[in-house]
Amino acid sequence: MRSLRGNDQSVVRVLNRNAIFNTLHREGPLSRVQLKERSGLSGAAITGVVGDLMRDGLVEEREGGVSSGGRPPVLLAVNYRARSAVGIKLMERRLEAVLTNLGGEVQRHLQVGLPDHRPETVVRTVQSAVEALLTQSGTRKEQLMGLGMGLPGVIDDRRGVCVHSDYLQWHEVPIGALLEEAVGVPIALDNDVNAFAVAERLFGHGKATSNLIVITVGRGIGAGLVANGQLVRGRDGGAGEFGHVVSETGGRRCECGKAGCLEAYASEPALVARARELASDLEITQADDLLHHLDDPRIAGLLRDAGQRIGIQLANLVNLLNPELIVVGGEGVRFGDPLFTPMREALREHSFASLAVDLPVVIEPWGDEVWARGAASLAVSHAFDLDLQEDACTSAD
Ligand SMILES: [Zn+2]
Repeated sequence: MRSLRGNDQSVVRVLNRNAIFNTLHREGPLSRVQLKERSGLSGAAITGVVGDLMRDGLVEEREGGVSSGGRPPVLLAVNYRARSAVGIKLMERRLEAVLTNLGGEVQRHLQVGLPDHRPETVVRTVQSAVEALLTQSGTRKEQLMGLGMGLPGVIDDRRGVCVHSDYLQWHEVPIGALLEEAVGVPIALDNDVNAFAVAERLFGHGKATSNLIVITVGRGIGAGLVANGQLVRGRDGGAGEFGHVVSETGGRRCECGKAGCLEAYASEPALVARARELASDLEITQADDLLHHLDDPRIAGLLRDAGQRIGIQLANLVNLLNPELIVVGGEGVRFGDPLFTPMREALREHSFASLAVDLPVVIEPWGDEVWARGAASLAVSHAFDLDLQEDACTSAD
């Protein structure tokens, strides 16, 4: 490693601070001796950084370590209540906003009407949502680590730019900079499914895994892929467009303009359109109407077909990535077994050799605030550079 001087020293201090915070988040509470072993940092570096973190209220001491004779050692733990983050999810005509603590626990949530999707309208509405959350919860703005927003579409998280979103009709919108100027806190942006995957990885079912597939089923179909502890983003941030893998060559027209995409068969709008074609005698105008006709063999068959199609494509992902865990979320989880039993069967049937054996598939109960919580997790992970990898420590001291 190159030698470090001047400003580099403060960079190292930040890296060490993040490394220690990461280690305590992932493995804490730990004694100072354990922290030294796990982080590979020197005793002096640990004393300095832990002192800083304790002064900021981010790390606290607790009684109760296991003694090897003498007084039990004091344990160090992250104080998740010390700061807050805001998460925002944009929806058709409203936005969902949550205030969470550093552990991803939702403390307050609210919905605000969104008259349109123009960037200036979104910025203004986010600004008032943040003010309302802070007032209602009695939180000072200085306690905010940042604001995260999950957006449907291709997002360049480093530049804070929405590169492309069909849903919002946005193209190259620097929404991160616009929000930062209006709200005055650090902004973290990502694709909404990636935000959900980050939340699962940091605070949810995936906390102990480095290889995780998260899929969402609902108005659209998407995937967040964590491989070797890293979120797979691809060149443009466009990785995980799971809804647009081909389910049938030359098949039904998709909203993306191509034909035969998975989404054209298994998204909620596609299910509604197919149900209306199949069973014109039933009154079906929205996805919820399907829930009233689960006994109708045509509707049951439609959900079975959609579940199988999702399961086959999921098996393809399993064959490519060999995950430890699959989490399924999204509004579509309310369809339950009629959709997901055939999905599980197809997944098992089409996965290679033993890759799907003992592979847990968790169907996550869904509420709109789950998206927003994911967005808040983005803000927390950016603030501490919460590395998604197991081995997040730097060896510099
Ligand atoms: Zn498509």
